[in-house]
This record gives sequence, structure tokens and C-alpha cells, in this order.
Amino acid sequence: MRSYEKSRQLYERACKSMAGGVSSHFRMSGAPHPLFFEKGVGARIYDVDGNEYLDFTLSQGPLILGHSNPDVLQKVSEEMNLGQLYAGQHELELELAEKLQSLIPCAELIRFSNSGSESVQAALRLARSFTGRKKYVKFEGQYHGWFDNVLISQHPTRATAGDSRSPNKVLETGGQLPGVLEDIIVLPWNDLDAVERAFAESASEIAAVITEPVMCNNGCIEPLPGYLKGLREICDKYDSILIFDEIITGFRLGLGGAQEFYGVIPDLATFGKAMASGFPVSFLAGKRHVMEYVANGTVMHAGTYNSNNPSIAAAAATIAILESNDGEIYKHIHALGQQLQQGLRRIAENAGQDILISGPGQMTHMAFSSVTKLVNYRDCLESDNAKYGVFAKEMLDRGVRLIGRGIWYISAAHTAADIEEAIDVAAEVLHAMKNHEASKFSITAV
Ligand code: PMP
Repeated sequence: MRSYEKSRQLYERACKSMAGGVSSHFRMSGAPHPLFFEKGVGARIYDVDGNEYLDFTLSQGPLILGHSNPDVLQKVSEEMNLGQLYAGQHELELELAEKLQSLIPCAELIRFSNSGSESVQAALRLARSFTGRKKYVKFEGQYHGWFDNVLISQHPTRATAGDSRSPNKVLETGGQLPGVLEDIIVLPWNDLDAVERAFAESASEIAAVITEPVMCNNGCIEPLPGYLKGLREICDKYDSILIFDEIITGFRLGLGGAQEFYGVIPDLATFGKAMASGFPVSFLAGKRHVMEYVANGTVMHAGTYNSNNPSIAAAAATIAILESNDGEIYKHIHALGQQLQQGLRRIAENAGQDILISGPGQMTHMAFSSVTKLVNYRDCLESDNAKYGVFAKEMLDRGVRLIGRGIWYISAAHTAADIEEAIDVAAEVLHAMKNHEASKFSITAV
């Protein structure tokens, strides 16, 4: 049995100086408590107790090249030694912007920020200013950051969610301004009729539709054929702004994001995570006539740390590697994703466990569920999340680190042998779970 004792002691100590012992809400639930790590190399991460893990969390997505990519670190170190932050422009920032412009279909102009949450706020403000309207459509189960006006109906329960055709607007945190609910319309995803109905009722008030082009924050649900195109058409028809939140899909589905992958170009899009190997940088990209409102100063966007040298260097180096060999890395990651999905399906069948695998492969979602296909958030409510928590904890104990909500990220540093290793461990865990009452496992979340 692995020991987590040193982590436990550090966590106990951390609770005395850091609220909840952590720096992000999503790190609070841990098994058996939040762990402390001391290094990451390639597809592996190491904790302070000397435990090694095959890592499928990839820091919630950013580490598409794996941990500690030497070329990225070299570039960061070179640039950082020249200066860290100028409160002014630098040439590498410009070069990166030009590169993004050439890669991303909607990126006629861009603006850098540090986090996804910030870029989403910039997108919504810009959409409001451009249209002169106040409201926006958001889809149940999707996540667009932790700020008041978007942290709505991300995880409603059956009891709070209300009618599936016209869901309740559910606040997700203490202290949230209830007034934000006035400006939001929450709809079921993958249902164009619902969007059409909302516009038929309130078109003159709707500034934007914001969507994750793949619903990565619940179930990794792909858009139904024609859905994204349908959103594009509705937004065009009613002069509303279509925003793709590509914080996860950007640089993971491919260099041009989900918009290139699915061939639907939004007016605005937000990117972050996989673009910079773990360094904090995001950007808002958009069509010129909309972004012009930022360019001419009508819409204010700022940030002390925006386009800081190490983050820009990390992004430039990461994207150069992703682009090399004609995007070979994406083929590699996709193939490993298929291997993982097939393997997990096979072992679940052998173990007599109902599992549902979803996602395009560059990211995969696994759930204990008898549902055969996920279409929207309500289907995710059928999943046994407590059982997945047990699974993730048992995987951790055997050296495979997973995100507790079911998504698996794969990096360029993973190999076919790593995927086979994870599948073998998962097979062992599924059999063990079949043989034990779930209640015998004590830990329920990672
Ligand atoms: N949008 C999406 C789709 C996300 O998945 C996330 C983070 N998981 C965010 C926005 C917020 O990004 P950040 O955590 O960098 O603020």
C-alpha cells in the first residue's frame, strides 16, 4: 500500500496558512487528502512521499507536451533572463500574435490575458458593447470560469435543475450576486430548437451565445452533427455574437481549435490551457469588426501580467513544437486516445461493468453509467460519480493519476506502452470493484 504520510502532514500544515490548504477550489477534494507533488517529467508526476504516477490530469489540460518539456523550458529561461515583465510591448509577443492569427480561423485580432476566466469576461463585455444588448445564452453543465456572471448551472442537481427544456438558473457559490441571473438565459446543449425559442422570445436583448464547442466540463460531449453550424446561423439571423470558449479544445483538438476541427467560425473565441505548457496565458481572438471595439478603446481590457515574458515564451515554444512535423503530435495523441477508449471499453465489458466512454480521443471521458450516449448535461446526471471517485482513488493507489470528474488528458509524452499500462491497472481496479461492495472503499473523490 502506498504511503501518503508526508503529503498528509504538509496538508495539515497548509490548512493553517492557506484557506482549505489549497489555492483552487478544484484541488480541495483529494484522495485521501490533497497531495503535494515535487516534480513532473514527461507523462509522470512524483509526490513528496516518493510515489510515481502516470499522469492523465496534465494539470487540468495544459500539459499537452507532458511535464517539463526541455525545449519549452529552455526558451522560457532564455526570454526570462532578458526581462520578466515590461508594462510595454515586446517582439516575441507580436510574433506569437501573428502566429495565432495564421492558425486560428476567427483570430483576425487577438488580446492576451493570463487565465481563461479573464478572457471569457473580456469576450462577454465586448459582445455587450458591440451589440448594445445585455443578455447572453449559456448552456447547462458548461464552465466558463469562476466569476459571478458565468458560474451558473454548471453542476445543478436533479432537485435544483428544473425542467430539462427550460432549465433553472442555478447559482453555484456563496457570495454570488443574484443580479447576474437577470442577464443570463440557461439552455440545454445540443438542442437548436431551445436556442431558436430563446431568440424568438428575446432576440433584441441577447448579446451573445457562449458555448464550449465540445462540452468538456461535463462528460466530454461532442456537438451533434450540424449543431455548431446551427448556432452560427441563429446568431447570424439575430445579429448576436457567437463565442466559442476554447479554453480546453484550443490547441488540443488541433492547431486551429474546435472551430477548425468542426468547420464553424465563431465571432469571438477564448483560448488558454494547452497553448503554453502550464504557464499562465490565455487570449481572446475575434473577427476584426468586433475586436475593433477593443482596438479603439471603447471596450476596456487590461492586466498587469498580460503578455509577461515567460508565458509568451512558453506559448511560442509550445506552439512551435505542436506545429512541427506537420502536426504529427496530434496524430499521436489521437491514436493514443483511440487506444485508451477501446481498451477501457474492452476491460469494462470483461469486468461486467457498465461504463460510458465519450470524447474525441484527444480527451476522453469515462463514467459509470448505463446511458449509451451523452447528448447534454441531463444525461450526465445518470452517471455514478461516487463510484468513479472510488475508481480514481484505486487507480491513484496503483500509480495512475486521474481527474476525479472523469476526463482523461493525453500528452505528446505518453506512449502506447503508457496507455497499455493504464488499461491494465484499470482492468485490475474494475475487477476489484466488482468483487467488493463500493461502500468498502472509503474515499469518494480525487
Ligand atoms: N472555460 C473553460 C471551458 C474551462 O474549462 C476553464 C477552466 N477549466 C475556464 C474557462 C477558466 O479558465 P481558468 O481556470 O484559466 O480561469
